[in-house]
Amino acid sequence: MEDPAKPRYRRILLKLSGEALGGSRDYGIDFKVVRDVVRQVRQVHELGVETALVVGGGNIFRGREVAASGFDRATGDYMGMLGTVINALALQDGLEKLGLPARTMTAIQMNQVAEPYIRRRAMRHLEKGRVVILAGGSGNPYFTTDTTAALRAVELECDVLMKATKVDGVYTADPKSDPSATKLLRLGYMEVLNRGIEIMDNTALTLCMDNGMPIVVFDLLRDGNLVRAVQGDEVGTMVAASV
Ligand code: UDP
Repeated sequence: MEDPAKPRYRRILLKLSGEALGGSRDYGIDFKVVRDVVRQVRQVHELGVETALVVGGGNIFRGREVAASGFDRATGDYMGMLGTVINALALQDGLEKLGLPARTMTAIQMNQVAEPYIRRRAMRHLEKGRVVILAGGSGNPYFTTDTTAALRAVELECDVLMKATKVDGVYTADPKSDPSATKLLRLGYMEVLNRGIEIMDNTALTLCMDNGMPIVVFDLLRDGNLVRAVQGDEVGTMVAASV
């Protein structure tokens, strides 16, 4: 039987979208959200769970939107990746204010601001109990921070990818318009792909599927959800190999 006090996961990767960090703002960072998020990260850190964070940049810049205005897509993507670094610094500061050791590592080098992303160094930080914030996306245009999250979760040997969203999981229909909608507790990767359920882009999902990386889709803004999920409570929806 599982020990209820013992966390289910030893090492997690938490994917936080830029949009979530923006809170109710159209642009930029809502520092109240940053404070809420880092408080939840502290709760899992206190359980001894090693935590890596991948942060998005949609609250600042999205390459696709730049391309839609007739500008160069790859340039727009680099602008988006730079936006993730701004978000990462806010999270790093928030974590440090709570006394948590944190390191920002970026896939796009900017030595004055953050460490370069080096896998082995990131692993070492995690082993030493530092929260690692992974910024700069994958460092490549035409990718997303969800794909970066899948890639880093796999290469850093995380036990799970926790995808924070604004809803508390995947429903059979939109619960806002359909009161009979029910939450799906578990889904197979293929089911998500075949039914076109929008959890993350297909590149990210396929990477998780090919490497058996489970994904938990959950609402991070509900206080205590992260620690509950890490302790193995049924929070949100789990996407994994079908049973
Ligand atoms: N981006 C990129 N390569 C990456 C990750 C991100 O080019 O590996 C760019 C892309 O333009 C994207 C933007 O950075 O739109 C912000 O990332 P994303 O949209 O994934 O952020 P989120 O939706 O999670 O806030």
